[in-house]
Amino acid sequence: MLAIGHSARDTFEKLYEKGLNMEKKNFSVGVRIEHKQDMINSSQYGNKSKLNLPPAEYKLVYHGKERSCYTFCMCPGGEVIASSSEEGTIVTNGMSKFARDGENANSAVLVNVVPDDFYGSSPLEGMYFQKELEKKAFEYGEKNYFAPVQRVGDFLENRKTIKLGKVKPTYLPGITMTNLNDILPDFVSKTLKEGIIYFDKKIKGFADEDSILTGVETRTSSPIRIVRDQNFMSNVKGIYPVRRRCRLCWWNNVCFS
Ligand SMILES: Cc1cc2nc3c(=O)[nH]c(=O)nc-3n(C[C@H](O)[C@H](O)[C@H](O)COP(=O)(O)OP(=O)(O)OC[C@H]3O[C@@H](n4cnc5c(N)ncnc54)[C@H](O)[C@@H]3O)c2cc1C
Repeated sequence: MLAIGHSARDTFEKLYEKGLNMEKKNFSVGVRIEHKQDMINSSQYGNKSKLNLPPAEYKLVYHGKERSCYTFCMCPGGEVIASSSEEGTIVTNGMSKFARDGENANSAVLVNVVPDDFYGSSPLEGMYFQKELEKKAFEYGEKNYFAPVQRVGDFLENRKTIKLGKVKPTYLPGITMTNLNDILPDFVSKTLKEGIIYFDKKIKGFADEDSILTGVETRTSSPIRIVRDQNFMSNVKGIYPVRRRCRLCWWNNVCFS
């Protein structure tokens, strides 16, 4: 049983070298967005504070002409978390503690990436694309494991953030203010902008200029599929690739992969 997760890059390379059948697949990349949880509560609940409702959640989707943008893994009262698995890279994720009582809400805001986005023919191209983005985020974070962040207002205007506003980033060990447009591929930045502006129609304040974007979110699902036959076996007899049902399928009850 081969249950190596979606980030065992050295093992993917070795297995491919040894002849295990793999193919490129769709996945998504983007950033984390943070707002004040109070703002999300007001937008979702209105003036219902006396009802003692739990910190509000949301799930948003935007279908553009060429790409889609969606929010994922929304963490009420949560934090943006460092999730690098290799030296010299930045990867973000999010989590809420049980109490969900942090000042900020966060979620991933993602854009779909398809196999045609890569020039090379190797099934590992998507993995290299992810890694390049993570390395770039590390460089723009000033190479000390601080994550690159930008205010939404500055991201939409394509200018570097030089001062934070009312939303304070939660990422540890720290952040570097930057222009995320310089890190993300154009098609990702463009669709993120369209999505964020559209989401503001659903959650009032979603595109508030002081909301914080932290880069980069690259590991929502695997960029590689190990091909299996009808008995779930790979082309190498006796190897059964296994994975936990991906979070996108799990939470949306739809298979994106
Ligand atoms: C901060 C954070 C928050 C998350 N929050 C949630 C959440 O709230 N809900 C949710 O559903 N998911 C969440 N996830 C995602 C979830 O953790 C993963 O989707 C899940 O762990 C994937 O399971 P897996 O068994 O496929 O892979 P993994 O958990 O990655 O397991 C793979 C295992 O294989 C081992 N391995 C790799 N290569 C080799 C090798 N060559 N030899 C031996 N062992 C090897 C690895 O060390 C690892 O132990 C979160 C992830 C992070 C980082």
